[in-house]
Amino acid sequence: MTTSDVESNRFLELLTEQDRAQLQPYVQTITVAGSQLLHAGGEEYDYVILPYSGAIGLKAPYPPDNLIDTVVVGREGVVGALSAIATTPSPYAAHTLLPARIARIPKLAFRNMLDSSPQMREVVARFECGLLTKVQQSVCCAAAHSVEARLCRWLLEIQDRSQGDRLAFTQDLIAQSLGVRRTTITLVAGKLQQSGVIRWQRGQVQIANRSFLEQHVCSCYAAMNNHSWMFECAPHQRLEQRLNGPEQQFSQSVNVRPREPGGLRLRP
Ligand SMILES: [Zn+2]
Repeated sequence: MTTSDVESNRFLELLTEQDRAQLQPYVQTITVAGSQLLHAGGEEYDYVILPYSGAIGLKAPYPPDNLIDTVVVGREGVVGALSAIATTPSPYAAHTLLPARIARIPKLAFRNMLDSSPQMREVVARFECGLLTKVQQSVCCAAAHSVEARLCRWLLEIQDRSQGDRLAFTQDLIAQSLGVRRTTITLVAGKLQQSGVIRWQRGQVQIANRSFLEQHVCSCYAAMNNHSWMFECAPHQRLEQRLNGPEQQFSQSVNVRPREPGGLRLRP
């Protein structure tokens, strides 16, 4: 497995070549349709999931029987890594929001690798910090921002991880994902459709005017992407600097590049 493979994932890219080679025998690559359950909340993860494509929603339970998206993860992320370390059930469910190609690694193999590789532990720690940052921002977004702005963010996040402009979603699914009433989504999406921003046909949303969404999305969209600096320098290089180099050198290495305005774009 090399980082030049067509199918790749940011977590795998940041591992050392040695760690990638040792993981390779355990990697199972599968294709999953949209709206499929990958992990039921309340159970331990059986696998650590590394998306090559598509989008996975991490969902929190919302009584009595609803699930709300807290974070959307694509090929820039990893799902279930912390559960593999902590050996505790995760209350959060994971569903595919888009059809996805994923690599999955049995949690025991993943855990054994972590026990032998400080570099890999560093990568996991960094990704879990990034995930926690996104969850915290998602809480702020739900509490402070309008449904219109949140819908713009959700559509942008999904399109960032899609292969095109047509997304197969019902209004029911979007309402569930955002934790609002279906009638609210009908009203808000109707305004976007009347303005020509989206076209809604037969369970498909076509994004016709992405720039409008970018102008009207809440600040959380950029905030969730702006911590991408955490992943821009291979962690094993940073670890070497921290262990062997002067502290000042490590501190300077944190800000290796200015953050991109508008956040990380995942689409080619
Ligand atoms: Zn927001």
